[in-house]
Amino acid sequence: RACLTMAAVQRLLRSSSVAAAGRRRMATSLAPGQAPAAAPAFPFAGAERRRRPAHERNVQWVFLGCPGIGKGTYASRLSRLLGVPHIATGDLVRDELASTGPDAVQLKEIVNQGKLVSDEIIINLLSKRLKKGEEKGESGFILDGFPRTVNQAEILDGVTDIDMVVNLKLREDIIVQKCLGRRICGQCGKNFNLACIDVKAENGLPPIYMSPLLPPNNCMSKLLTRDDDTEEVVRNRLRIYNEMSQPVEDFYQKQGKVLEFDLPGGIPESWPKLLDVLNLEDQQEMKLAAA
Ligand code: ADP
Repeated sequence: RACLTMAAVQRLLRSSSVAAAGRRRMATSLAPGQAPAAAPAFPFAGAERRRRPAHERNVQWVFLGCPGIGKGTYASRLSRLLGVPHIATGDLVRDELASTGPDAVQLKEIVNQGKLVSDEIIINLLSKRLKKGEEKGESGFILDGFPRTVNQAEILDGVTDIDMVVNLKLREDIIVQKCLGRRICGQCGKNFNLACIDVKAENGLPPIYMSPLLPPNNCMSKLLTRDDDTEEVVRNRLRIYNEMSQPVEDFYQKQGKVLEFDLPGGIPESWPKLLDVLNLEDQQEMKLAAA
C-alpha cells in the first residue's frame, strides 16, 4: 500500500517546492559547496550540476528501509531502468574493507558489530565515488544506505537536491529471516537468498510469500554468508536503524518527499507495484521493447 497518490508522486518527481524552499534557505546561509556547520566537509564535486532543477537533470533519489529489506535490489533495478548509478554506501564500505588501507581493520570491527561507521569516513567514501562517476559522465543517482543519520541527511541537503525518498517497509520478523538467508557468490559477486518466506495472514495482517532467490548450479558451492549476517548482528542493526535512521524518515517526511511503500511480497509481486506507484510502467515497457 503506497501512501502517496499518483499526482503527488508526479509532483515529487518534478521536485518538491516545500523542499526547494528549505534548500534555498540553506543555500543562502552557506557558501557554494560548503557543508552545514558542525558537519564534516563534503568535498562534493559537481554540486552545481546536482542543484539544477529536477526536470533538467537525472533523478536524485534516496532509498530508505531497514537493513536487509531489499533496498539494494529495487534501487539497482530502478537505476538500470532510469540510467542513473545505484550507489550503496554498504558496498563502498565493503570495498574499503577488502582493501589493505590503514582503516580496514578498525572498520571491520565496527561493521561486524552492526554499528555505523563515522560520518566522516562514509562521506569521504561517498564523495570519492561521486567524483569518480562524474569523471565518467554519470549524472543523477539512487542512494542506498545513505543518509543513515539526520546529520548525514543535513550534510547531503547542504550540497545537493534530493527529489524523492522511497521508504520500503516490511515486518521485522520477515526481515530477520531474509537477512539470515542472504548469500553472496564468492566468485561472481552476485547476491542470492535461500530463505523461503511463507507467512499466513493473521491479526489483520496480509499473508506474505517471498520465494527464495536461488543461485545457478555453478555458484551453489561458492556461496558465502556475510560476517555481519548472524542473528545477533542482524537484530543489532535493526535496533540501530530504529534509533538512528527512523529520525531520517521524519526529516524527509517534513520536507514532503517520502513515498511509503509496503512490500507486498518478493520481487515478482513488489517490482510491478513499485513501477506502478512511481508511474514508470511505460518506461519499463519501452526498455523491454527496445531490448
Ligand atoms: P545492511 O545490509 O545492514 O543494509 P549495508 O550493506 O548498507 O547494511 O552497510 C553495511 C555496513 O556499512 C553497515 O552496517 C555500517 O557499518 C556501514 N555503513 C553503510 N552505510 C553507512 C552510513 N550511511 N553511515 C554509517 N555506516 C554505514
